[in-house]
Amino acid sequence: MAIESLPTFTKPARQRWESIPADIRQRLLSNVWCGHCSHETTITNFTGTIKGGDLVLVGQCAECRNDVARVIEGS
Ligand SMILES: [Zn+2]
Repeated sequence: MAIESLPTFTKPARQRWESIPADIRQRLLSNVWCGHCSHETTITNFTGTIKGGDLVLVGQCAECRNDVARVIEGS
């Protein structure tokens, strides 16, 4: 997935996401915990929103399609 193509991000979420260095973003996407697989996985088909000052990515496990999420705390 091209992480530069993010049509499902809200504008503030996109701005927060784009403030993160690309290598860090890639790492954030590739070590998301999946409770179904019981190991770290890659998040796909994700959306981005800001909730309570944190950037929240919600998407699917690349392996099993279980719902997974990652919260990136505001700095
Ligand atoms: Zn999974």
